[in-house]
Amino acid sequence: MILDGKKIAAEIRGELRTEIDAIKASGQRVPKLAIVIVGHNPASETYVNNKLKACAEVGIEAVKIAYEAEITEQTLLSEVHRLNNDETIDGFIVQLPLPDHINETRILSAIDYRKDVDGLTPENVGRTVQGLPSIISATPRGIRELLARYQIQTEGKHVVVIGRSNIVGKPIAMLLMQRPYLSLPGMSAASLGDATVTICHSKTRDLKSICLTADIIIVAAGCPKLLTADMVKEGATIIDVGINRVMDERAKGEGTKGYRLVGDVDFEHVAPKAAYITPVPGGVGPMTIVSLLQNTLQAYNEHTR
Ligand code: NAD
Repeated sequence: MILDGKKIAAEIRGELRTEIDAIKASGQRVPKLAIVIVGHNPASETYVNNKLKACAEVGIEAVKIAYEAEITEQTLLSEVHRLNNDETIDGFIVQLPLPDHINETRILSAIDYRKDVDGLTPENVGRTVQGLPSIISATPRGIRELLARYQIQTEGKHVVVIGRSNIVGKPIAMLLMQRPYLSLPGMSAASLGDATVTICHSKTRDLKSICLTADIIIVAAGCPKLLTADMVKEGATIIDVGINRVMDERAKGEGTKGYRLVGDVDFEHVAPKAAYITPVPGGVGPMTIVSLLQNTLQAYNEHTR
């Protein structure tokens, strides 16, 4: 069965729209998000435009703050401090990656964790690790919500996470292994964590035999066709986080860019063995964007309380 992130994300946007309409109807101001983008990375520009579009769809006010790639770290830090202190902004993100001369950790660490709707500050990550209320980073939040909405239990399951990044691998592993503390619609709190999690990465030996013992495999490596059918147990659930651009002759032509997006899973051969699988595009990607909207509303609710 396909885990349709596009459909679920649309459902969630509908729920958010209703909630924000009610805020508006009560005469209060609507939530406001700022997105800081540095330079002209084409993928980042696409992501930012998609985020702005999604905000408009649910009624979140969004502003884009664009800087040229040559901006100094100090200027960017000053912008972060300004946004931290701007009472009209409920949350903001600094779109990654940043140019090499800017220290990402220093920038992320400067964000007030209450406005950190990407959930990437050390404070939010630490709170998540300790099971305290926190803003969870968008992709892990989206994956967890997708599992929950399809009623896929994680309790006692063996989850293999491939990739150990701060934005996907580490936080999703943490969320699924910990004792659950948050409930989501349609699912009892008890079924959202409590998994046995193995984290694999580029130095892992014999990835195949580890994957063959997995009930759920989450792949976030950035390698097309890393997960092949011979690595997957019959009936496993497969979450493909990867977004890779591959050149494709068929995608060439007027108005097209000559590439298409693929995930990290050999979808064609893995899908017949899987009980559930996310497509790329249309799986985790839309869930990531809608999670940012949920995080913004969460920050707004805390801010205006
Ligand atoms: P990253 O690019 O920072 O790191 C990749 C990770 O994969 C590393 O931990 C590395 O050890 C591991 N890895 C690489 N090759 C491997 C191999 N052959 N075997 C085992 N492990 C291997 O990770 P990231 O930032 O989480 O991004 C991973 C992928 O997910 C990228 O394609 C990225 O574009 C995509 N992504 C998608 C979304 C989304 O919303 N769908 C969000 C974030 C990232």
